[in-house]
Amino acid sequence: MEPEAADSLYDIVIIGSGPAGYTAGIYAARANLKTVIIAGVTPGGQLMLTGVVENFPGFPDGVQGPDLMESMRRQAENAGVEIVYDDAVDVDFSTYPRKIITSDRTFLAKAVIIATGASPKWLGLESEKRLLGRGVSSCATCDGPLFRGAKCAVVVGGGDSAMEYALFLSKLVEKVVVVHRRDKLRASKIMQERALSNPKIEFVWNSVVVDVLGSERVEGVKVKNKLTGEEKVIPCNAVFVAIGHAPNTEFLRGKLELDEEGYIKLYNNFETSVKGVFAAGDVHDKRYRQAITAAGFGCMAAMEAIRFIEEGHPERLEKEYRAGRVEVVSGSNPSEQS
Ligand code: NAP
Repeated sequence: MEPEAADSLYDIVIIGSGPAGYTAGIYAARANLKTVIIAGVTPGGQLMLTGVVENFPGFPDGVQGPDLMESMRRQAENAGVEIVYDDAVDVDFSTYPRKIITSDRTFLAKAVIIATGASPKWLGLESEKRLLGRGVSSCATCDGPLFRGAKCAVVVGGGDSAMEYALFLSKLVEKVVVVHRRDKLRASKIMQERALSNPKIEFVWNSVVVDVLGSERVEGVKVKNKLTGEEKVIPCNAVFVAIGHAPNTEFLRGKLELDEEGYIKLYNNFETSVKGVFAAGDVHDKRYRQAITAAGFGCMAAMEAIRFIEEGHPERLEKEYRAGRVEVVSGSNPSEQS
């Protein structure tokens, strides 16, 4: 690991490269602050796994998720943001400037914005893990085309992602079966209507997948009706799991306050439990989780980080840490710290 050279000191280090991270980067760089985005080895966030995005304003005919992210990346770079394609594996928030550690560098930050987003959840079945990439997938837009012309694809879940997957797959395979654990969909009205009126999409209600069948490739799923206990096999060629997301905060455990599901807790204006560390997007937001809201949160977190720097907090904090007057602040409410 390289020594902590002066050029490792940034005004703002942003971790994550979805809409929240790139937007934060654009605002920070335009405020003339030395800004780096630690974008991850697979940058771009969840929109890289999406097809056409129809609800991001400014694109009357929709825009492909990866194209939108590429535009955001270019806009951030044009604004002057440095982009590093590596994962943050650790942080040290017990010291100031804050430290963010990747596989081969340590970044020092006056302010940090965490925008690492969330990743798809899995059912947790052994067979699901074994057949991952052999018919089991969490991304219909990425892997669906592999099953063009297949007899049947199963989609698990009742949210917008599940409906989006089912609609997309209905153009590729002969039949789509949506397995949902309740008898009501969580998806938005428009997505529900599109899926429910599509003759190629069938619904299996009040049911959960208890096993994925097949040795080398997916051959079917065993589902259990939660009301009757009855089990049945649905023969299929692929299973797309769309049951929500979990925040990408593993590397932050014990470093700042997370809630019981692992989402970052926010206190004062996008600040976390650590002073000068802010969070934006799906890593703290389990309510809205839209590309446009993530971008908005990225903007707000950046404005707070910019204000934090402009108001002279870094100089004050550095003095306090040097004098040993501030210890680990994780777990305390930043609004109570001076
Ligand atoms: P979601 O809204 O959280 O839906 C997850 C679905 O999976 C729910 O129906 C849930 O059932 C089910 N589920 C959760 N855990 C399960 C388990 N262990 N076993 C079986 N089923 C399980 O997640 P999402 O669909 O990924 O959407 C996330 C956010 O992105 C939402 O805000 C959504 O509006 C947005 N989004 C929007 C679009 C669009 O506008 N085109 C597309 C995709 C996503 P219950 O309903 O019983 O809880």
